[in-house]
Amino acid sequence: MDKINIYKDNQLRFDKAAEILGVRQDIQNLLRQTRRVIRVDFPVQMDDGNNRLFTGYRAQHTRSMGPTKGGIRYAPNIDEEEIKGLAFLMTWKCSLLGLPFGGAKGGVAFDPRTVSLRELEHITRRYTTEMKSIFDPEKDVPAPDMGTNPQVMAWIFDTYSNFKGHQQPAVVTGKPVECYGIEGRKEATGRGLSLLVLETLAEHGYRRIDEQKGKPLQEARIAVQGFGNVGSVTAQLLAESGCNVVSVSDVDVTLYNENGLDIPRVLHYAEQNKNSLKGYTEAEALAPLEVLYLPCDVLIPAATENVITAENAEKISAPIIVEGANAPTTTKADERLLQLGKEIIPDILANAGGVTVSYFEWAQARSMYKWKEAEVNQRLRDDFMLPAYQRTKQTAEKYHTDLRTAAFILGIDRVQKMILKRGIWP
Ligand code: NAD
Repeated sequence: MDKINIYKDNQLRFDKAAEILGVRQDIQNLLRQTRRVIRVDFPVQMDDGNNRLFTGYRAQHTRSMGPTKGGIRYAPNIDEEEIKGLAFLMTWKCSLLGLPFGGAKGGVAFDPRTVSLRELEHITRRYTTEMKSIFDPEKDVPAPDMGTNPQVMAWIFDTYSNFKGHQQPAVVTGKPVECYGIEGRKEATGRGLSLLVLETLAEHGYRRIDEQKGKPLQEARIAVQGFGNVGSVTAQLLAESGCNVVSVSDVDVTLYNENGLDIPRVLHYAEQNKNSLKGYTEAEALAPLEVLYLPCDVLIPAATENVITAENAEKISAPIIVEGANAPTTTKADERLLQLGKEIIPDILANAGGVTVSYFEWAQARSMYKWKEAEVNQRLRDDFMLPAYQRTKQTAEKYHTDLRTAAFILGIDRVQKMILKRGIWP
């Protein structure tokens, strides 16, 4: 099967929301496009002494909202369309959350699991060198995504600062706490996701934490696809909240126990096993995709895009889907899932905790005033995630539409208002 183009797929969602909102045609045409795409091919000397050529990208979707913001992905099959699609989604996510950023995304096409630590550092530093006039605290601020982590962000910060001749901690977010990072960033995407899972469960009659009325959270069965940064933290926080995490998975395997997995043990195992779940023996081991179809109450796809398609949508048993990954569900699958009565909390809302705390980190770096973790978590919840969730629900009711379309409507509305007031930033 051909790779589904997430850019084109999300342009359809954008069109639907823009029509409902009555966005002027010229603005709609403009906002469907990507403002700028940079492609670089660069050599890196590998451990065996040979030079290998790498291809890297950076896409900036719109510059009208402030600096562009978005993660850097290291994965073997990325291409320009995927990076543009992810940058497009970042614009609507930042706008929905009320952040002062436009969307961007970057990446280098290789499998980070196949290179040494030294090679990973050299690839990162060389990619940053190629992007040294693109990245900028005031213009374009990267962050972690699939296949990258705080250490990679520290190398980006260091390489860029070396070029500038002074410390530039606001050029990248998701840095280690010891290196101008912010407390709580590593957990932020999973924390935001788990907040919305708990909120949705409460609306479905489950007990809120510290409340007596409602069904016990132990009866809420959760399945999480992907056990990287987003999936592992989400599984951990939901298990700590009392939910029954029955399944987690990664690229190699699905782990399943209908009575619930011991998430601290699974986490410990993955940490000792290069972040892989392969070989864990204290649960049933199934094929990687099986996680999607297991009996559960909430499914959290938190691995990669296009995993729920028109072909497999009917096999999903969970009535609630909360999207941790970007674009895990295709538009065709969306239609089918909605017909089947499923509730989908869309990616641009559900996984926005990461970019929100990245915004705090950027603000912290610009003021050089350190935030406390309790403040980060409280503001994430009370000022950003829960209000955005409520706004999205209200908008869905107002326009008699689904939550994804409502989230797009809110995102587009803020951007179009900015453009109508100020004109278009070149
Ligand atoms: P990661 O690299 O830390 O982890 C990815 C996980 O998914 C790993 O467990 C990997 O084994 C698994 N995986 C990869 N391909 C798979 C496949 N084809 N089938 C099943 N499992 C697969 O990545 P992450 O940072 O956790 O990001 C996961 C998703 O969340 C991505 O879509 C990313 O864009 C999105 N996201 C990440 C952040 C963040 O802050 N890291 C923020 C918002 C959204």
